[in-house]
Amino acid sequence: MRMIIEAGEEGIFQSELWKRLGINSREGSRLSLRFERRGLIRRERALYKGRWTYRLISKRKNVSLRSIADCPCLLCDDIDKCYEGGTVSPISCERLTEWILLLAKRDGMRSP
Ligand code: SF4
Repeated sequence: MRMIIEAGEEGIFQSELWKRLGINSREGSRLSLRFERRGLIRRERALYKGRWTYRLISKRKNVSLRSIADCPCLLCDDIDKCYEGGTVSPISCERLTEWILLLAKRDGMRSP
């Protein structure tokens, strides 16, 4: 799974993965079908070196700390008092809500 995740959005051809893992195509096919059934990957039919095969693409993404670098909570003076029912709460915090809405707007702009 790590190799598939590291292959990113482009994924990895299954034959390439079998070669790297040192397993045969029968074992490899069983493995990729198991990953697909568990919802960990999607398989896309693709032409590779003149043959039809599958490209394996992870549904999981590597998470980067950069994605939360500008979260207001990281520099908030009230973080010790912030919890559900506390003096301040993430449920009603305007700064957190604005940040989440900004992320949603950015993600929306990235989607086709
Ligand atoms: S939710 Fe709001 S109040 Fe709570 S830690 Fe984050 S920024 Fe601070």
